[in-house]
Amino acid sequence: MTFAATVLTLYPEVFPGPLGFSLAGRALDAGTWSLETKNIRDFATDKHRSVDDTPAGGGAGMVLKPDVLAAALDHVADRDLQRRPMLAMTPRGAPLTQARVRELAAGPGAIILCGRFEGFDERIFEARPVEPVSIGDYVLSGGELGAMVLLDACVRLLPGVMGSASSGEEESFETGLLEYPHYTRPLIWEGRTIPEVLRSGDHAKIAAWRHEQAVNDTRLRRPDLIERHGGASQAPPSGAR
Ligand code: SAM
Repeated sequence: MTFAATVLTLYPEVFPGPLGFSLAGRALDAGTWSLETKNIRDFATDKHRSVDDTPAGGGAGMVLKPDVLAAALDHVADRDLQRRPMLAMTPRGAPLTQARVRELAAGPGAIILCGRFEGFDERIFEARPVEPVSIGDYVLSGGELGAMVLLDACVRLLPGVMGSASSGEEESFETGLLEYPHYTRPLIWEGRTIPEVLRSGDHAKIAAWRHEQAVNDTRLRRPDLIERHGGASQAPPSGAR
């Protein structure tokens, strides 16, 4: 089954952008996933092809009109035999997590709505089953980069995309911890040496050291993860003693 992405945007020309390169780009060329874009403006009905209007109650900026958004979503959903989840990129959404990314990557794909200006008329979330998704606690000028972030995170998990050498299971967030630090040659660089344990060849010792580093770094940099997942108490990976 191909992971099928449909992106609804006012700027379809920015896709695939970075998704056309490296892992995601090769997987796109290989047909492991598909990417379709729809211009929200094509669903406007007035002669000016308006997609936005002034905010009710006053204030700066413009708001994306619910009738136009619904027409765009319905157009895609009505033809969607797979019943893909509908997501809307917004800083008001639930923060995207690796767990949600894994769920999405295991499914048929996603229909992603990208906002601009002040964002969406809120009634779209009541009238259609749209999941609001945020990629972090900061404000971008549009949802396109968020959609790309979400799709890149999903696509690298699709079977065969990362290759057999890496399943991504040890990576940051998969275990509730940040990943352990990595090193590579040269052995000594600017007077700093690769930790001795990594050169010991003792795989159990290396696994235990990596787990300890992961716990320590997570405690220091992301104590919220330790609290949320009980990460510090997690068992070390098999092979560690
Ligand atoms: N007025 C909105 C607010 O304060 O919540 C911000 C609107 S933002 C300027 C325009 C669009 O960028 C949003 O509709 C959304 O699609 C996208 N966007 C901005 N920040 C985002 C984030 N952290 N996560 C996902 N999408 C974001």
